[in-house]
Amino acid sequence: MRSKSALGFVAALLLSSGSAGTDAPAAVAPAAVDNICRQFAQRINGFNPDQCRLAGLKPAAAARSVEGRPLLVRDVPAAVPSAKAPRRVLVLGGIHGDEYSAVVVAFQWIERLRGDRFQRFQWRVLPCVNPDGLLAQPSHRTNAHGVDLNRNFPTPDWDAHAVSYWKGKTHSDPRRFPGTQAGSEPETRWIVEQIDSYKPDAIVSIHAPLNVLDFDGPYTPPAKLGYLRLAPLGTYPGSLGGYGGMFLRLPVMTPELPTATHTPSAEQSGRILIDLIDWLNKNLPAEG
Ligand SMILES: [Zn+2]
Repeated sequence: MRSKSALGFVAALLLSSGSAGTDAPAAVAPAAVDNICRQFAQRINGFNPDQCRLAGLKPAAAARSVEGRPLLVRDVPAAVPSAKAPRRVLVLGGIHGDEYSAVVVAFQWIERLRGDRFQRFQWRVLPCVNPDGLLAQPSHRTNAHGVDLNRNFPTPDWDAHAVSYWKGKTHSDPRRFPGTQAGSEPETRWIVEQIDSYKPDAIVSIHAPLNVLDFDGPYTPPAKLGYLRLAPLGTYPGSLGGYGGMFLRLPVMTPELPTATHTPSAEQSGRILIDLIDWLNKNLPAEG
């Protein structure tokens, strides 16, 4: 006799294979993923908990947020088979916990990438890298230690400049505290480890609400991604743009969505992704 949970498993497979194109159907989410998807939906207006549950997310095996929440990963393989190794793209959502739209767009992109039968890149999406900031009451930009994760990366100028920059230029703005040392936070260390082991050819970190596209690192940047026009913002000691773009010499794109709380439609976020894939196709030919 089939158990109720086995039936639930089959139902989830049918559901996800109905919406996905090329990718293997997602298995039922582990309980930890199920639970955090529900919490995201309670916090973010317009967040689809089923899109989250059926996204095929895995909690990172050896890392947790400061408060012990799972750090989520979704790998989406290239849809077009090739004799050459696909180039790899790492996408981060929600490094600032109060930028809800960035997390929603990361999930919209996972769904869109899974259904794209023509894209030839390998993607790793980390849709919510600061779950403690997002699920705090109220949500805040920093992690649970009050550190701005996007100022905590081990850039070569961190020791000399990160804290003095924070005190001088931001007047010790608590929203921009870089931490007491580079890489002090488990979330930052996990992202650095992901970059180290995954070896992306490009990094995309989704933010809000500046309504522009920022770009760091080598290559000629795209003039626009969707409705976001290029307007380089510069780098800061300890920022991901500084670490990935200037130190590791990888192209780092930072789409800054127009609002932090209003969710773009799947069509709008899809246009950003289409332009991104177009730029990748032109600038990152398949590896030999
Ligand atoms: Zn941000």
